[in-house]
Amino acid sequence: MIDELHPIKLHNLAPIGAFINMYSLSKAMSNSPKPDSVRYCVNIKSKKHPDVRCPNRATQGEYCGFHNKNPTRFIPKTPPLIPQKPIQQSAKRIQKAWRRAIPLLRFRHQGPGTNDPTLSTCDSDIYTFDPIIKVPMMYRWSYADSKKNIWLFDIRSLWMMYETVDTNEFLNPYTREPISKETQESFRRRCAQLRAHKYILAHNEGHTLTPDQLWQQRILDIILRLDNLGYHTCVSWFENLPIQKLADFYGIMYQIWNTPRLTPTNLKKEIIPNLETQEKPIFQKSASAYRTHTEKRWWQKHLLDTIETLITSSPNKGSQTQGAILVIRAYAFVSLEVRRSYHWLIS
Ligand SMILES: [Zn+2]
Repeated sequence: MIDELHPIKLHNLAPIGAFINMYSLSKAMSNSPKPDSVRYCVNIKSKKHPDVRCPNRATQGEYCGFHNKNPTRFIPKTPPLIPQKPIQQSAKRIQKAWRRAIPLLRFRHQGPGTNDPTLSTCDSDIYTFDPIIKVPMMYRWSYADSKKNIWLFDIRSLWMMYETVDTNEFLNPYTREPISKETQESFRRRCAQLRAHKYILAHNEGHTLTPDQLWQQRILDIILRLDNLGYHTCVSWFENLPIQKLADFYGIMYQIWNTPRLTPTNLKKEIIPNLETQEKPIFQKSASAYRTHTEKRWWQKHLLDTIETLITSSPNKGSQTQGAILVIRAYAFVSLEVRRSYHWLIS
């Protein structure tokens, strides 16, 4: 994954556990989703302006819809480097090592059929029907089933099929054989990785992203973070909550947070280490104080921001999980699907 995920900014290389902190989603509640929640095209703007990078969003993997077919990569001007011989040699050695490491990394993150699509049992994509060999490298994901058959997918197609089901119904679409928990985890980890690097996880037929699609990506980011902490929920479960349930969701979190028996001060500080110095304190007002807000979208935003604060403020995964438990507990009160999956959390 290294080459295509980090074409320009090598400093983006970070251990997987650290990516959660890598992209700073602002806590501000603006009316539009974060402008930088998806990547920008890596092409040059045009043949006339080869020294300017294309300002469009990357809707087709690394490129925008215009530059996807005949890409010319933008290379930022760097001061000329006059390497001495030994440096040149060691640079070559490093490059060579990377070339060897990339297929291995890809194998580890994206499964056994990624480097060689001919190993795959299926040869076209389940959603687009495109030949599987045409799926961009970064979107390939594969696994070997219990009979050692290799299946290669466009991860976006699988995502679209499975974001709506709970873990027990995660089946191979061709054989209907259940996909093991470990394989599901590898799938979700890869989805989270792609999102952390701002790749879009939905198939994008149009060439531009609609505000709705950007909004979807925002919800998706929170769902993937919860997934990553071990709590699988679906985008649709959240989207289908009516406004009253959204207000209740917030209200119950507010109550759990402000009941010392349920959330003692030391636990609060564990979940949000900078609790006292927070710029915008969490749970400033009760749900009833927000009753002037009658827009469903406002409540959804408010909830996503609150949940984000609870599960990302601490750098420690254990503390993030404590935040996630609080979220899921309240969520279970308002969502039948969550209650079904996590009944043990509310008993
Ligand atoms: Zn472009």
